Formats: sequence, structure tokens, C-alpha cells
Amino acid sequence: MIYTSTGSTSTTASLHEAASRVFAPDGGLYVPAQIKRLPKAFFNNIDAMNLREIAYVVANTLFGDDIPSDVLKDIVDDSFNFDMPLRHVSGKIYAIELFHGPSLGFKDVGARFMAHLLGYLHKTAGLKANVLVNTSGDTGGAVAAGFYNVPGIDVYVLYPLYKMTREQEAQFTTLGGNIHPLGANCDYDTCQELVREIFTDDEIQRRCRLLTANSINVTRLLPQTIYYFYAYSRMPRALRRNIVFSIPSGNLGNLTAGVIAMRMGLPVKRFVAAQGANHPLVDYLDRTAAAPSGKAISTLAPALDVTAPSNLPRLRHLFADDRAAMAARIKAVSVADAQISRTMREVHADASYLMDPHTAAATAALASTITPDETGIVLATAHPAKYHDTVLQATGINVPLPAQMAAAAAARRYGERIAPRFDELKRYLLRRASQ
Ligand SMILES: *Cc1c(COP(=O)(O)O)cnc(C)c1O
Repeated sequence: MIYTSTGSTSTTASLHEAASRVFAPDGGLYVPAQIKRLPKAFFNNIDAMNLREIAYVVANTLFGDDIPSDVLKDIVDDSFNFDMPLRHVSGKIYAIELFHGPSLGFKDVGARFMAHLLGYLHKTAGLKANVLVNTSGDTGGAVAAGFYNVPGIDVYVLYPLYKMTREQEAQFTTLGGNIHPLGANCDYDTCQELVREIFTDDEIQRRCRLLTANSINVTRLLPQTIYYFYAYSRMPRALRRNIVFSIPSGNLGNLTAGVIAMRMGLPVKRFVAAQGANHPLVDYLDRTAAAPSGKAISTLAPALDVTAPSNLPRLRHLFADDRAAMAARIKAVSVADAQISRTMREVHADASYLMDPHTAAATAALASTITPDETGIVLATAHPAKYHDTVLQATGINVPLPAQMAAAAAARRYGERIAPRFDELKRYLLRRASQ
């Protein structure tokens, strides 16, 4: 597949180039130059296929030109090695649980796929590579687990100190080996900005083979299309006509993947993007809104605390910069903390189902817009145990920590502190990651 840039469609790149660079030379983000549609027969047979079979067909449509089929099959099997059950919540609302992987969040899917794909691309090039990633909590654990022990790749995780739960921090600070955590005393947006700057630095580009693992990397973004197809396949046939996906939206990677799945032919009617007190997509779609303020407000759903979503340029590109066209398919809704808590409490009381605050935000947003002829699928992006204290406060339920998290929380920590400044991060990387 050929990739182009959101900056200019005259830019083209191979998968290897698009996967290795963060930004296109024109500063844009890579997107597929053309999105291939899946044949009708695929949708007719989709109920009879299991997760790995569906994943392989979708992955082959996206990466089949670039990756030999036996390698792609191994990548799919290694990445989709945990279940993603579709649960009925209540009424016409379902949830696809994407949180049964090693870090208990949906980011495991893209991160594992990317790790194995980059491992393959760099092995064939015979080169050692470094991954730099910033995290507000969930990316770090998913990326660390995905890349842990992948030969030839070292991972640097830049994260804001004191901004996430002990369990989240444990997921990427207790592995050691090729995973190197860097704690900085700043907020998440500052970490994100530092990483963006590092990737535009010529000396870093020249001296370190530095890759990104945030959702702006196409090899992480595109595999996220797969679970939209899978969720559709598990929905009872009679309910498949007017499907609405509701997505807790921070950097908009998940939403962008959903739109790409729709362009590949997935019969979806529309999307709901749930945001919190920070709502840049609501502002974008509502032209009258004031320009977003710089600093993110902290909420019960920290992965939504983003003011400048990194995937917005891709989403705009997919809709040819036409806000009205985007608004026809995407409804962005801002959900306040009180509503997130109330939804967690009510869903538990009415349906005996526990949700993490991000999933609850998406459920509340969906409930506010769904019509009687529609069926809603919420992307359940994190295990409720990951947000143990928030869930306890809202519902009174003490979710037990799954075994892998309990062990990690007690384990020895690795990592270093770093001052949240460009020159410090650059010096560190030149010392550790240059070759
Ligand atoms: C990262 C994350 C999100 C936001 O996903 P984006 O692709 O950045 O929009 C939502 N929920 C959880 C639990 C997350 O970890």
C-alpha cells in the first residue's frame, strides 16, 4: 500500500518509510493514499469466522502488499491472542470489551501489532531501532508489554510523574530489559509536546533510529480497524442495520480507525465521540466555539484529558476538510465527571455491569443521542480494575486486581527521572540511543 501525507497528497511513502518516520517530510501525518474495500462476500460470511480469521483478512487488505502472508499470519496470531467479547449492556446498547490483553486496555491491540510488525521490518533491514513514546497512563503499559523482549528494539517511555495510578505506572516501570521509563515532573501535554519536538530534530533523526509508538504511527493505528469488524460480526444479524459506535476519544486514534473501517466497507451508520471537560472535537465540529485553551483539565477519565488531539489532522483529511461531512457521521459529546460517575453507578445497578470511567463516558454520550432504530456498540477501552478507586467511589464495588496487575504493583521499579525540557531529553537520547 502507498501512504501519503495529510500535509500534501503529492507526498508518497512505503510502509517501511511511513512506519519509521513520525511525520512526513512536509510535517503531516501518514495516511493510506487509497483505502481498499473488502469484498461483499467477506461480510456475508463474517459470522462464521473467528477473531484471528477476521483479523487476518482485514490485516491482509491493509498490509498484504508489503508483508509476506506467513509473516502477517504470525503477527496477527501473536497480536490477537486474547478474547474481545461483545456484551449486552442494556436495551439496544452493547459493549465490545477490548481490555483483556496484558495491560488491560484496548491499546494492547495496536501496540502488539506494531511491535511485531516493526520487529519484522527492522530485522529484515538488519538494524537496531529505538522507540520513544509518551504516555498519560495507558499507552506506556501497552507499548511496553508489546515490545518487551522484541529483539533489536529499545523502548523509552516518557511519562508525567504523579499523574497516574500506581498500577498504571507499574505496567511499564517493572519490566526492565529493553524497556526504559523516563519520569518527568510536568503534565501529559508537555510530555507530548517534547516528544513531538524531538521527532522534528535533525540531529536526533540522523544519529538515533528513533520510531514513535504513539497512535500517530500507522502500524499502530491501522490494526485498530480490526475490532470494529469483529464487533460487527458478533452482533445478532437482526441488529446490524443501523450500528452506531461510541468511542471514548482522547487523541482520536480509535475514532480515526473506525472511520477507516467504514471506508473499507464496514456497514456502520455513524460514530459518537465521547469527550470530557476537554472537548476539542466538540469545538472543531461546532464552528462557533472558542479556540481551545492550552492546558488540559484533569477528569475522572484521564485518557480523554487532551486539548490538541494528535489524530485530528487525519480525521480532517478523511473528510476532505469538510466539517459538515464529518458532522454527518460523527457526533461529539462532552460528558462531565458527574455524569461519568452516575453512568457507572446506574449501569451497575441496572445491568450488574461494571465500567471504567472512559467506557462510562462513551455509554453516557451514546445514550444521549441514540434513536430507537439504532443499535449502539460502546468501545470498552479499559478494565474497570485499572480505575479501581474511581469505580469504587461511584459504585461502592471493590474490583479485584487481575493477577498480572497485582504482581506488577508489588514488583521492583526501573527507570530514571528527567527534567521536562527539550535539551535534557535530547541529551539523554543522544547518550543512550545513538549509534
Ligand atoms: C487511550 C485511551 C482512550 C483514548 O483513545 P484515543 O485513540 O487516544 O482517542 C480512551 N480510553 C482509554 C481507556 C484509553 O487508554
